[in-house]
Amino acid sequence: MTTRSLRVATQRVASLRVIPLIIGALTLSACGSTGFAADGTVGGRLAVVAAFYPLQFATQQVGGDFVTVTSLTRPGAEPHDIELTPRDVATVSRASLVVYEKGLQGAVDTAVESEGGNRGLDVAPAAHLDLTLASGTTDPHFWLDPQRYSEVATVIAGRLAQIDPAHRADFEKNAKVFEDKLAALSGELTTGLASCQRRDIVTSHSAFAYFAKRFGMRQIAINGISPDQEPKAGALATVSTYVKAHGVTTVYAETLASPAIAQTVAEETGARMATLDPIEGLNTRSSGKDYFEIMRSNLTALRAGQGCS
Ligand SMILES: [Zn+2]
Repeated sequence: MTTRSLRVATQRVASLRVIPLIIGALTLSACGSTGFAADGTVGGRLAVVAAFYPLQFATQQVGGDFVTVTSLTRPGAEPHDIELTPRDVATVSRASLVVYEKGLQGAVDTAVESEGGNRGLDVAPAAHLDLTLASGTTDPHFWLDPQRYSEVATVIAGRLAQIDPAHRADFEKNAKVFEDKLAALSGELTTGLASCQRRDIVTSHSAFAYFAKRFGMRQIAINGISPDQEPKAGALATVSTYVKAHGVTTVYAETLASPAIAQTVAEETGARMATLDPIEGLNTRSSGKDYFEIMRSNLTALRAGQGCS
């Protein structure tokens, strides 16, 4: 800043017209700079917090122009086991609605419990989480089954309509459009995976059980619930043995986690590597700009890897 511009800036700060703005900014930062007004709106729209990408995307699709959705999981971050900053917690305390999945992210569960009042929407019941991981934990990855994802969207629309009844028809219409797109996607997956030489999908972490159940595949996961865990002792050898015994030709890595474990199995067995994205978040390596594009690119990867005609 030059001396002259500094002097001009100082004069501006001294003007009475500017001072209330500065005080306003200071007050806001004391509350955590969420940008959300005290009535749970931002820029005239409903301020909604979503815990991670699939919930953010569904809420944006359903809420359309009447909501602003902030995700607690940063783009490119992996949602399992995230930690929240004081600012994130302030965001939860000021939102009109917090869309989350109980049991997936402990820090989010805690923040909703302490700060969310009755404004939390746990999507787990709507997602019918009826599969259990090898660890005994409930499998949270419902969004990879478009039908379960669709049922979650219906519940989000219902809740938005309760909060903002004036836009009930818009939310219902948007939800219908989103659900129709999910039904079309589900149809493409059913057709595209109807006739495959191989039904075993070897994935990096166990995100694809609901997907596999819906589309008649069998998931063999090298890792457990979170892609960042170290594989359990013996897991790599067990999966490698399975790959060789069952004629698996492709091992799938992910975009948000290191491909090292899939690579190890591929090297051990001579299988090739491909990418299957669990869509837990977007990053620069994502194979599409949103859920639908990535699901379709997953379909392309699977059709090649599983020998589908
Ligand atoms: Zn996961």
